[in-house]
Parts: sequence; C-alpha cells; structure tokens
Amino acid sequence: MPGKTAPEDPETDVQETVTVLLVDDQPVIALMVRKMLAVDPAITLHVCTQATEAVAQARQVHPTVILQDLVMPEANGLDLVVAYRSMPETRNIPIIVLSSNDEPEMKKSAFAIGANDYLVKLPEPIELVARIRYHSRAFMALVERDNAYRALRLSQQKLLLSNLELQRLTHSDGLTGLPNRRSFNDYLARAWATSQEQGSPLSLLMIDVDHFKSYNDRFGHLAGDDALKCVAEAIRECCPDPSCLPARFGGEEFAMVMPGLTVAQASGIAEAIRRQVEGTALPHAAPTATSVTVSIGAATMAAPPDASSDLLIAAADARLYQAKCNGRNCIVGD
Ligand code: GH3
Ligand code: MG
Ligand code: MG
Repeated sequence: MPGKTAPEDPETDVQETVTVLLVDDQPVIALMVRKMLAVDPAITLHVCTQATEAVAQARQVHPTVILQDLVMPEANGLDLVVAYRSMPETRNIPIIVLSSNDEPEMKKSAFAIGANDYLVKLPEPIELVARIRYHSRAFMALVERDNAYRALRLSQQKLLLSNLELQRLTHSDGLTGLPNRRSFNDYLARAWATSQEQGSPLSLLMIDVDHFKSYNDRFGHLAGDDALKCVAEAIRECCPDPSCLPARFGGEEFAMVMPGLTVAQASGIAEAIRRQVEGTALPHAAPTATSVTVSIGAATMAAPPDASSDLLIAAADARLYQAKCNGRNCIVGD
C-alpha cells in the first residue's frame, strides 16, 4: 500500500496519504521543495539526487506522487518517466515534471511519454502543494478502487466454490457419496421425458440388500453403515457409462437409471452388480447366504405419453419383490 498508514476515517483516507518522491540532482531544489511542502504536515517527502537510483527508490518508498527533474547528470528525466511507466509497481504513480525548461515542445514530449503534469521550477508553494494533493488523491482513489475490485473478485470466487460444494452436498448421499434420492428423482424425470419424446428405451434397476435388518442386529449399525458403503461402491463400479445414474434410493435400497439400454443390457448390468456385491464377500449370517448379497429388479420400457415415471419404478419394484420371493441374491428382469 503506498503512502502513510491509513487514518481511521475512510472519507479522509484518500486525502491524508501523500508521499512525494522528488528526483532532482540539485540539493538546493530539494531544500526549497522541502520548505514549500513543510506547510502541509500530511505530506512526506523523499529525495533522490541520483538518477540511477530513482526507479529503485520509487519502488521502495511507494510514492503517491513523483516530482521529476528533466536535466540530470546521469540521465534524461524523460527516460526515467518511461522507466516508471514500464514497471508494474510504478506504472500508475502520477508524475509531475519539475523543470526549468518552459518550452512548449518539451512540455509536449513530457506529456506524450506519460507525465501527468508539468511545473516550471519553481512554482508558488500553494500551487505545488495543490497539484501534489490533487494527483495524490486521484492515485489513492485508483489504488483503493483496484483493491476493492480485487477483494470483490476474491469473494466472488469463494462464493462460487461454496456454491459448487453446496450443490455437491445437496445432490449426494452423505453416507455412500452416491447421488441421493433428489438427484435420482431429477434424473429419472429427465430420462423419462426424453424416452417419451424419442420413444427410446429406459431401464431402471431397483437394488435391495438382503436380510439387512439381521445384519445390523448381528454386527451393529456402524458395521451396517460400512456394509452399505461397500455395496454402493460395487454398484458404482458396475455403472456402464456416464449417461447412467447410480443412486441411493433410501435405506438399504439403491437404484440405477439407465437411459437407452435394452432389456438384455439392463439384465446384464443387474447380474454384474449382483456378482460384484457377492464378490466383496462381506460375512453375513443370513438365512439365504453367508455373505452380504443383493436382490435386483430390472424393468425396461419406452415411456408411454401420458404415464408418469412411477410406472417404471413400480415395474422394477414388482420384479425386485419377485427376486426376494425367488430366494434373494438373484435378479428378475423383463
Ligand atoms: P429383505 O431381504 O427382505 O430386504 O430384508 P431386510 O432385513 O433387508 O429388510 P427390512 O426392510 O426389514 O430392513 C431393512 C433394514 O435396513 C432396516 C434398517 O435398519 C436398515 N437400514 C436402513 N438404512 C440404514 C442405514 O443407513 N444404515 C444401517 N446400518 N442400516 C440401515
Ligand atoms: Mg428394503
Ligand atoms: Mg433389504
């Protein structure tokens, strides 16, 4: 931040921060300028008498105004103006050329390369102070505006990330990380509408863990949670492509929406899931198996024009019920 420490009142902040860097090889000029500026205690003056050190000093003291002499032993003041303008830290600092040269051509050159103002040595103290204050205030207003923009951009980025995280949380199931029931409903509604429009097949799997109540009773609810995570992972691994949506339907029931899949393909995926869960070999002491298993109902249809997607859910559910009746750890499809 250029200049002095900011005072408490934001209204006066812009006005109070005045740091001047005078670049002039003549100590007598420095002396006189210091005297002129002494009337205003808000102004801090730094003096640089060596042209070769001017840019480095400008980067170090962060002036809000540079007073630049034109004729110096080691350098042309105009070259220094170009140098300030070429560096990011000094690019926008107002430059008032302070020269004994009153030629319009010289003034023209100075303005052409980026000087903001031109004063013939030495001006009236009141004029020098007024110009310094004016340019300093304009510069500080610019700096504050840039800082405000930067802060705004940063908070916008943070907000964007929070929204993405919020979206992820509202669409996924806390235990398994799979898309939750809300995502399932949204996705099925969209897939159903597409099937109605295009007459394309839409498949749905309803997947239910077998004898899960007794799993909890035997191993405890926390172990039950872990088992559900394993089952979810197995289902996720069998998801055939990104157009299909595996989801936690609720409790120990899962589902997979599969747009465009045929009856045979849907049954193939269902069988793959059944085998994958069986393959995880989570020990269980169910009446029907010694490891955790699932039963799956698979239904496929081209969505009829006037029906709702409940029709597909009911069909898959009916087949799931059939699979349970058939002894569990099996699939029933169309
Ligand atoms: P079936 O083979 O006929 O499906 O028998 P089941 O015991 O699996 O079916 P039931 O509907 O009787 O019991 C489901 C059990 O799933 C009861 C419930 O406590 C358990 N469950 C549901 N959600 C969770 C969960 O998030 N964590 C745990 N650990 N258990 C859950
Ligand atoms: Mg159930
Ligand atoms: Mg069950």
